[in-house]
Amino acid sequence: MKRERSERVLVFLKGGIGDVVFALPLLGDLRAGFPEAELVALSHDQGADVLRHAPAVDTVRSTGPMSARTSVNDALRALGPGTFDVAVTPVRSARAAWLLLRSGAGIRVGFGGGPERLLLTHVAPVRPFEVVFSRRFDRLATALGLRTGAPARLAIALPEEDEARQRLRAAGRAEARPLVALHVGGGWPTKRWPVVHARGLVERLAGAGAQVLLVGGAEDRPQAQEIAAAAPAAVLDRTGASVADTLAELSLASAAVGLDSGLSHAGVALGIPTVLLFGPNDPASVEPVAHARLVTQPLPCRPCNRAGKVRCPEGHHRCMRDTTPEQVLAALDGLPAPTALTGR
Ligand code: SF4
Repeated sequence: MKRERSERVLVFLKGGIGDVVFALPLLGDLRAGFPEAELVALSHDQGADVLRHAPAVDTVRSTGPMSARTSVNDALRALGPGTFDVAVTPVRSARAAWLLLRSGAGIRVGFGGGPERLLLTHVAPVRPFEVVFSRRFDRLATALGLRTGAPARLAIALPEEDEARQRLRAAGRAEARPLVALHVGGGWPTKRWPVVHARGLVERLAGAGAQVLLVGGAEDRPQAQEIAAAAPAAVLDRTGASVADTLAELSLASAAVGLDSGLSHAGVALGIPTVLLFGPNDPASVEPVAHARLVTQPLPCRPCNRAGKVRCPEGHHRCMRDTTPEQVLAALDGLPAPTALTGR
């Protein structure tokens, strides 16, 4: 019998896919703190695609494409009828705080960095900055008096997993062979791995009998085609699929190689044993988990963070160029068995 829910909790999330993934522990904390409530998450289309796989969330609403500018009235229309009891957002803007007020919530929680604090009932401190991104959001749960520490967790429902399996079969999946996912793009230009190295990895994986699932956005397709040409018979190029479909397909991989990108962090939240190639960003910004290994280079210029977002300030980009396919293969070998994590 369906349980009647008396409370409604709204969480409003913006930013990139990574920002939504890093808010998963907050959603887990809210789920634990309001076990009987309906937890409604509002984000843009790509964020909503992630949140549809978040077990903590009951209802997902979208404000439209990530690039669209959305008014508070648009967001309220996306939420539909009904008011909320509690509304939470890590978005630091007066517009976000106004949305929380207009949602009808008597309890409104956000960061108090600016004038938006006047519209909030519970304010979390912005400073000092937490190094681990996802732990910054914990402060919102703490401001509500909730316990923190929930893991980032995504899970694919069985019907969506079956559909993903069928799509991969249609793309050439041979299920007797291991499947390794490779994220080919995304994020800042300096976070990307040189194509020549990605091709080298694909060749070696194909030589070892594996198939390689290429994932990424539509903008990554030209790069994916270059990589796929290294071993066309072993590659399933699924770049350009929706975020929801990509996550469902990624969940079928035995292991993944990713970058410091939202999609790769979502793969880790799915429990996929993952090797993350970290260049300019600080590896300490992600929560350590047993099924992820970080590959970095010992360079004195690391991390250069936002200073090296578009171009390498040193001009050599060695943080990613020095990361070889052999190093990545060695890290893949050191990952825990996928069956322990994904049940496959
Ligand atoms: S300065 Fe160093 S860390 Fe930054 S992009 Fe260049 S090689 Fe990478």
